[in-house]
Amino acid sequence: MKDASQIRSALLSWYRKTRRDLPWRRTRDPYAIWISETMLQQTRVETVIPYYERFLARFPDARSLAEAPADDVMSLWAGLGYYSRARNLQAAARQVCDEHGGQLPEDVDALQSLKGVGRYTAGAVASIAFDRPAPILDGNVIRVLARLLDLREDVAGAEVKRTLWAEAEALAEGPSPGDLNQALMELGALVCVPRAPRCLACPVMDRCAARREGSAESLPVKAKKPKPKRARAVCALVERAGQQRRFLAVRRPPSGLLGGLWELPGDEVGLRESGPEVLARALRDRVGLSVTDVEEVGPVRHVFTHRSLRLDVYRARTGPGRVAREGYDAHRWVSRTALDGLPISAVARKALDLLGDG
Ligand code: SF4
Repeated sequence: MKDASQIRSALLSWYRKTRRDLPWRRTRDPYAIWISETMLQQTRVETVIPYYERFLARFPDARSLAEAPADDVMSLWAGLGYYSRARNLQAAARQVCDEHGGQLPEDVDALQSLKGVGRYTAGAVASIAFDRPAPILDGNVIRVLARLLDLREDVAGAEVKRTLWAEAEALAEGPSPGDLNQALMELGALVCVPRAPRCLACPVMDRCAARREGSAESLPVKAKKPKPKRARAVCALVERAGQQRRFLAVRRPPSGLLGGLWELPGDEVGLRESGPEVLARALRDRVGLSVTDVEEVGPVRHVFTHRSLRLDVYRARTGPGRVAREGYDAHRWVSRTALDGLPISAVARKALDLLGDG
């Protein structure tokens, strides 16, 4: 990039004057920065703050995270989405303990060898916690760089990505790489926003090619994503006959979509299948229960990255009997309060909200 050193110093002095006071900016602890950067992927700052604070209070270092029961980790993650991040964090914390004495390594390659740590997170931790001149590239930085350079090609293309990484690297190779990287992200979050960028408040306005060419609002160029596919599923709150009210919760296997999270038993509904028929089959084949008093409560909807799901929610009763498990890795009969306290996915939470307290 032409003028890299002027851009760098304009960004640094702007960032130091205007940066937001965020909890992870009050620390240089590499572990805390790693947790925050992982939570911030695909998730808004305001959403992350309470999760970050609870997580750090419960797991203040890699060892406490490595040694925690997986359910505790998932409980503190429940609602943040992209649950593989939580599973990977715990696996990586174990690597940090086994291979690095419980301290995060400084080197980008060593950071990238940790489970779930990609080039972005490694660059963020290395630069922010250790002042290493490592670049980062996230959605905000891509937008800022594409505009500064007036890049008119699809930013998902491999060639353009290489250019963007090289430009980010050139900017990070100077004083205070951690602040510089955060300045780029902050500029993207507050000023160089997707629609109607606030160019008049921008510290690098004079050096921005897109501003000069009048193309800022049309950048970055992104190929259209396909619409999420529609899917349908059913689940039931199954109550067991007995003196105390107990409900069945099942846990998904650790890998795959929503892995390790608890939910109500059920299954996906195929084309030309009816909800009640699939529910009866799922309860028989997946948990070995025959049920009575089946009552439809209503649908909830949830959009995942690639799927838009309609989940039809039912209530049902069952007698005493053994639960068989097919496709789940654990089950529990729990009170309604305990059910609400389990680490469950956002879509299962919607189902429980629809069911109310009874
Ligand atoms: Fe973004 Fe406008 Fe600044 Fe260019 S001048 S970097 S388009 S805010």
